[in-house]
Amino acid sequence: MNKILEVRDLHVTFHTYAGQVKAVRGVSFDLYEGEILAIVGESGSGKSVTAQTIMKLNPMPPTQIERGKILLGDKDIVKASEKEMMAIRGKDISMIFQDPMTSLNPTMTIGRQLTEAIKHHKKLSKDEAQKEAIRLLKLVRIPNPESRIFQYPHEFSGGMRQRVMIAMALSCQPKLLIADEPTTALDVTIQAQIIDILKEIREKTGTSIIIITHDLGVVANMADRVAVMYGGKIVETGSVDDIFYRPAHPYTKALLESLPKTDTDKNTRLVSIEGTPPDLLNPPVGCPFAGRCKYTMKICKTQMPPHFEPSKDHKSACWLLHEDCPYSDFKNPDGG
Ligand code: SF4
Ligand code: MG
Repeated sequence: MNKILEVRDLHVTFHTYAGQVKAVRGVSFDLYEGEILAIVGESGSGKSVTAQTIMKLNPMPPTQIERGKILLGDKDIVKASEKEMMAIRGKDISMIFQDPMTSLNPTMTIGRQLTEAIKHHKKLSKDEAQKEAIRLLKLVRIPNPESRIFQYPHEFSGGMRQRVMIAMALSCQPKLLIADEPTTALDVTIQAQIIDILKEIREKTGTSIIIITHDLGVVANMADRVAVMYGGKIVETGSVDDIFYRPAHPYTKALLESLPKTDTDKNTRLVSIEGTPPDLLNPPVGCPFAGRCKYTMKICKTQMPPHFEPSKDHKSACWLLHEDCPYSDFKNPDGG
């Protein structure tokens, strides 16, 4: 598989009245062609900031990329000018957000918004652009697109508006689609439909997807690989099976243990675990989870653990995986 994105040692800071918030602190990961990577974490973990930085679309407060690389092919997004970014956003990377209403123009029909987006990327006649708009709406399973293109956003339900946003994001045939909490504002059945649509799009177009979520149900249902973020850092990465069946970081384990135990409870969003996340105005020098972890050792508070590899392509930044550490269940998460 070809690598399409390589993020290396990314550091991002917010400038606030209270001081500098170290929102992203040395994040590295790779993304391959056609892959769905979920970045999961609580709010304030740095997951959305990481995604926005890939697009260089960081909203307020003023944000600065301190260092690191974001390689899209041989282009380093960190060094790209705003003009270059405009081309990249239109052609290579698209993003969908939590609230589709704020991204659609309420005074324009869905068809017109879509054809304008399409014509922005491709030189097509009005008729051709309209055909393409209908094709995209079919791809996101909007019924009767031939008539619905003449309707306005308020005539669409929340789930249907999110489908329109996905169609818009696909109008440039992006290599990478970033979805930041795309199902959070929707109810559970609609969420499941949006997830199915995203998976189908990956099958049909080969687009890689980064999904940002705090919902472990979403992760389990669509991701190939998972990066767990905490306190501005990725603490564990692995396949979806590694993360759910062989978690090798106490934070990931705590997240899984906090899931409801009954099958009837459909709520898979993260409930908070005891304690508070670290203050990123004054981030800890050691492990970000040390203040809440039930295994905290002396070294955890003074040195950031490196990424150990309990198995191939499975990484965990936790001192418990050090060969001299007495706890064995973390070193052999398979029980081997
Ligand atoms: Fe817990 Fe230490 Fe591992 Fe951090 S490094 S998760 S504090 S055991
Ligand atoms: Mg967010």
